[in-house]
Amino acid sequence: MPELIIVGGGITGLSAAWEAQQNGISYALLEKTSRWGGKVHTEIVNFPEGKAIIDGGPESFITRKPEAWDLVGELGIQDSVINPGAETRHMYILDGGMPVEVPLAPVKFASSRLMSGGGKLRMMLEPFQPPKADDADESLADFVTRRLGREALDKFIGPILGGIYNTDPDTQSILVSSPIMREMEAEYGGLVKAMIGRMRKARKNKLASDDKKPRFGAFANGLQELTDELARQLTGDLRLDTNITRIEKDESNYQIFLENGEKLSAKKLIFATPANITAKLLTDIAEESAKKLATIKHENIGTVTLIYREEEIQSDFPIHGLMIPRREKRAIDAVTFTSLKMPTRVPKGYGVIRVFFGGSKPNVAEVSDSDLLKTVRDELKSTIGITVEPIQIVPFRWLKSFPQANVGHLDFVDEIEKTLPEGIYLAGSSYRGIGVPDCIQQGRQAVKKSI
Ligand SMILES: Cc1cc2nc3c(=O)[nH]c(=O)nc-3n(C[C@H](O)[C@H](O)[C@H](O)COP(=O)(O)OP(=O)(O)OC[C@H]3O[C@@H](n4cnc5c(N)ncnc54)[C@H](O)[C@@H]3O)c2cc1C
Repeated sequence: MPELIIVGGGITGLSAAWEAQQNGISYALLEKTSRWGGKVHTEIVNFPEGKAIIDGGPESFITRKPEAWDLVGELGIQDSVINPGAETRHMYILDGGMPVEVPLAPVKFASSRLMSGGGKLRMMLEPFQPPKADDADESLADFVTRRLGREALDKFIGPILGGIYNTDPDTQSILVSSPIMREMEAEYGGLVKAMIGRMRKARKNKLASDDKKPRFGAFANGLQELTDELARQLTGDLRLDTNITRIEKDESNYQIFLENGEKLSAKKLIFATPANITAKLLTDIAEESAKKLATIKHENIGTVTLIYREEEIQSDFPIHGLMIPRREKRAIDAVTFTSLKMPTRVPKGYGVIRVFFGGSKPNVAEVSDSDLLKTVRDELKSTIGITVEPIQIVPFRWLKSFPQANVGHLDFVDEIEKTLPEGIYLAGSSYRGIGVPDCIQQGRQAVKKSI
């Protein structure tokens, strides 16, 4: 009998298993599907000229939150990490149906048509806005409006944040999505002051150390290198294709009944599945917690990668990515030119575009591949003028699987955890942050809490 059973073999569950292993705790890791990694999913498409590496879910991780970078170091695969470059270079926002470059440099900002003169002036007054007097949660929209003005929210920052978090900035909790912005405000009194202060600090630290850590990390062969290596180095009881039919509690242990007729027992369980799935699994042993978990909303999300002959998709302007705000009422949310951002992942002569969908029109994630292709082609034609048919498409869909963290979410998670029976722990993107480093942190923390 293992001391611990972990349910869900995405990056969260794998990280929990790794932490258990480091602490000499015996564990079983149960995954419903036939592969490890969950949303970390890379597909390789072979062409005569070489292979195209396609990440369906996350493509890179931030290193400012240290957990992913540290895990990579523990696994001994830091040399495989590549720098995917800045996410912000040649980024465009769709505004009134037209792509407009995100004006990050001061000169471009001054001449950009994305915002009015009044809107720009209000943004420039950011250093003079007082910091928030308390540490209560607020929406992304409230934070951005308070610091930078309403137009910055509608035209500039809102679309970027809404695109990153596949969410509505009016309801999304800042403390879950972007706690860094609140930390900057609290520490320095404002965002501009914080950027200057942090740049100075970083320069000083750089002079003092020879740290080669990039701001973002990715893998030459796709992010699944991380989860594959993690699974390879795990030595516990690892079970794929494992479906749980019910969970019971006897006097001292939890009993997990599997579809294949087996029964597993343990004193401690970690659920590393999205909250809406955990809610169903917990119904018989933690009814109150299950009811609360079921109220955390999970939206559809998907990506489709389109592979073209490079010369057929060359653009008149150097576009690496396009964010599409919900107010534009389009069927897709964002477009990334993978072959420009990470050219080593694509064979010579091919152009690769990744399109995100599900946020603005959730039903797009539910249609057939051929209907999806038709929708995406229509949108690419009318937004950036790409009319040719791709050579190949690689779609990924996660239905009701992208958590939405509303204002007050962290307090709600605390409240749920108080209702959990002894020996049950929660971890993953539905709770305290959605990024890969957040999930690793939560998986490892759940094990630490259980000791
Ligand atoms: C399109 C997309 C792009 C993203 N981009 C980035 C990015 O660039 N950088 C970043 O940091 N983050 C990114 N994210 C977020 C990040 O990828 C996810 O939050 C993270 O991978 C979630 O990991 P998880 O292990 O918590 O959940 P999941 O990956 O969902 O894993 C849960 C696992 O549980 C399994 N499971 C489900 N039901 C059961 C059951 N009954 N029994 C056993 N197992 C079960 C599932 O099959 C799955 O393997 C992105 C996410 C998406 C969808």
